[in-house]
Amino acid sequence: MRSIAHIELQYAHRFYNFKGEAQYLHGHTGHLTIEVEDSINKGINMVFPCNEIQKTAWEVLQNFDHALILREDDPLLPAILDVYEIQGIKNGAPTNKMMGPAFKTELATAHPQCRLVVTKETMTVEGMIKIVYELLKDKLNIVKLTFTSGVNAASCDFKPEGTIDRCPLCGIALKNGVCPKCGYRKP
Ligand SMILES: [Zn+2]
Ligand SMILES: [Zn+2]
Repeated sequence: MRSIAHIELQYAHRFYNFKGEAQYLHGHTGHLTIEVEDSINKGINMVFPCNEIQKTAWEVLQNFDHALILREDDPLLPAILDVYEIQGIKNGAPTNKMMGPAFKTELATAHPQCRLVVTKETMTVEGMIKIVYELLKDKLNIVKLTFTSGVNAASCDFKPEGTIDRCPLCGIALKNGVCPKCGYRKP
């Protein structure tokens, strides 16, 4: 069975060197759907609590919200960083609180202090699915990701890998047989 969670991300980007309107800087609300598959956890009759999937995903994905997403070779990147520097917001601002942990994967590097994500490839809806899977595959049993942004949509199926030991009382993943949320211990 599957549990399905949803996340919204507001971001700006462009398709550098793309021969179309999308080569100009513009923004979207992106909708990400995460489908997680596992056995039914008998204690709570769920695969996984959807708010916990959301929380796990949001921890890293908040770096994409109200963020600028640019490809690493885009000349806008140094230009924007120069402006942020002059304005004194490159290394953070008191009102910039929605920061996840900085991450660096093969496909994307987050700079939470200035709400910037630098990508290796153009951030299309397909590109975003590759980035998200890379970031979350070790945390959740993801079997499908769907990302829509404006009229664009993409989805990808993934092979489920094993089963995650979950707390029978609150449903979250056990760490070394202990629930980090309610303290339940696996007998
Ligand atoms: Zn776009
Ligand atoms: Zn628990």
